[in-house]
Amino acid sequence: MSSEDIKKARSAIPFNREHLESVLRQRFFFAPAFDLYGGVSGLYDYGPPGCAFQANVVDYWRKHFILEEDMLEVDCTMLTPHDVLKTSGHVDKFSDWMCKDRKTGEIFRADHIVEEVLEARLVGDKEARGLVKDANASAKEDADKKKRKKKVKQIQAVKLEDAVIKEYEEVLAKIDGYSGKELGELMQRFNIGNPVTGDPLEPPVAFNLMFETAIGPSGQLKGYLRPETAQGQFLNFNKLLEFNNGKTPFASASIGKSFRNEISPRSGLLRVREFLMAEIEHFLDPLDKSHPRFHEVKDVKLSFLPREVQEAGSTEPIVKTIGEAVESKMVDNETLGYFIARISQFLLAIGVDATKLRFRQHLANEMAHYAADCWDGELLTSFGWIECVGCADRSAYDLTVHSEKTKQKLVVRQKLEKPVEVTRWEIDLTKKLFGPKFRKDTPLVEAYLLNLSQEELASKAEELKNTGKIVFQVEGIDGKLDLDDKFVQIEKRTKIEHVREFVPNVIEPSFGIGRIIYSVFEHSFWSRPEDTARSVLSFAPLVAPTKVLLVPLSNHKDLAPVTAQVSKQLRTEKIPFRVDDSGVSIGKRYARNDELGTPFGVTIDFDSCKDGSVTLRERDSTKQVRGSTKDVIEAIRSITYGGVTWEEGTKSLTPFTSQSESA
Ligand code: AMP
Repeated sequence: MSSEDIKKARSAIPFNREHLESVLRQRFFFAPAFDLYGGVSGLYDYGPPGCAFQANVVDYWRKHFILEEDMLEVDCTMLTPHDVLKTSGHVDKFSDWMCKDRKTGEIFRADHIVEEVLEARLVGDKEARGLVKDANASAKEDADKKKRKKKVKQIQAVKLEDAVIKEYEEVLAKIDGYSGKELGELMQRFNIGNPVTGDPLEPPVAFNLMFETAIGPSGQLKGYLRPETAQGQFLNFNKLLEFNNGKTPFASASIGKSFRNEISPRSGLLRVREFLMAEIEHFLDPLDKSHPRFHEVKDVKLSFLPREVQEAGSTEPIVKTIGEAVESKMVDNETLGYFIARISQFLLAIGVDATKLRFRQHLANEMAHYAADCWDGELLTSFGWIECVGCADRSAYDLTVHSEKTKQKLVVRQKLEKPVEVTRWEIDLTKKLFGPKFRKDTPLVEAYLLNLSQEELASKAEELKNTGKIVFQVEGIDGKLDLDDKFVQIEKRTKIEHVREFVPNVIEPSFGIGRIIYSVFEHSFWSRPEDTARSVLSFAPLVAPTKVLLVPLSNHKDLAPVTAQVSKQLRTEKIPFRVDDSGVSIGKRYARNDELGTPFGVTIDFDSCKDGSVTLRERDSTKQVRGSTKDVIEAIRSITYGGVTWEEGTKSLTPFTSQSESA
């Protein structure tokens, strides 16, 4: 089977999500957690192949990003005190919009319900126009529509006016950008209620997605399970900068669990309440967002869905190189562009289908107010396009807010080649008067005053001049405080500076590992056209859970020593393998492992006992070659870890045709 034939075979049978789900369940890639107790939606456990696949993806992520770019990895605690997440904005803003059906008590996510109902109406319109025979019947065949049918009870075959279709399509293209108020207005305007009963829903209200808890026995220290892994990296900024000898740019990275109390988790691993994230915070000079290695990726071609295209109600991507995208300013800067290209390279290496990857720019109202630009790496699945990696330029927001709150500087100091003259406000404290006046609160008051911004100093100077004192409040101290000019002097001074001080900006690529893994499962799944019950997960050898299936031809005792010998060699080479010495036919044993995505089979037969040769089988083409154990293991090693093709890796081995694949 040539690679062209494999391609044809892979697309011969239409993708069937139920079939994939049954394989993933049967082979225990993952399963609903606590299912003995009825399960809890949005929580899953990974079984052996799922764990190995995830570990391999994470291992490659570490190599591709952390090792390749000398990133500084940190592993921070998941329990986060309230104050940190209050400062970061999560306590006030990390919410989705939910609507309640007062009659049934059901709760819906507002944007999802608008999306589902409008999509169902568009399907109904197609049916009325005869473009689909029976939307409800065809929904039976199509897993995605079937789900919609269940949610939107009956898809009505109603013809819509052209203007209405256009309006629906425009709303759907912008669905990620609406506020709660706007979603409520859309629900009223389009008469969207409970999708099953049609009853009206209460207007959308914000629901904070963080899991709240109390740290310690007193219950006084309120905390949350972290909703992302970024904050720990920001809070360790000064230590990381020092570790990096005070130099920028540099990046930190973190891999760990995050928790979000999703309103209505659905779509399996795509929307869960606990998931593995891998995040990078790349700290750089706000005045220089170039990247020294941009030239290495500038020719990488990508599919972009920029803001203007979405705002025009279209989902037609623009294909261009990242070099062109940055040059035309479609992507804000080189470093952001560099990471977008590196994200794409990572995803393709672990098995994402290049035709099912696009980068969608955030709409203006979808993007955080402080962000300079933001692109989502989206993967096409049977659930539609799914955001799997976010890549944002977060400007100086995070370090600034934490610095303001804690009154600790989070800055880079850079020695200037040419000294510069700088005029700025400065505050002097007559410290010997502070102790007697403020006693134990002295450090808090001093830190507050020494960290006033230039704007605050200007206004305090004015206040001191006009009223003879300054009045202020310090967090942690009750009541207002005031000080006169015996305690503080505030003056504008001009100085020659030899050091530049700046708050770095941050480019943040943020990966949801579970979403990526599930998308790769879908992109890798197919059924053999000659026998549709035999399905295959065509994982890239690099990330496949097990690389080799070792199959002795029979249970004959003579084969056991050779099996033990080959096992020992594979173990020495650290190549993950499994032995299948069950009595079933070779074909059945291979078929089982095709479903586990095992890329190679090594067969031990009676000739192996005589001359030490074994047969090597490739999963997708079922091609077989033969050679010494040593040469076969070398071929496996170089294809799996050296990135060479099957043809190249097996050049020195002999084609082999005698073993039958039939089960
Ligand atoms: P965000 O911080 O919302 O941009 O999310 C970062 C990444 O985490 C996304 O690109 C997703 O891959 C992943 N993610 C977010 N929410 C979930 C969820 N509920 N379940 C699984 N993955 C998620």
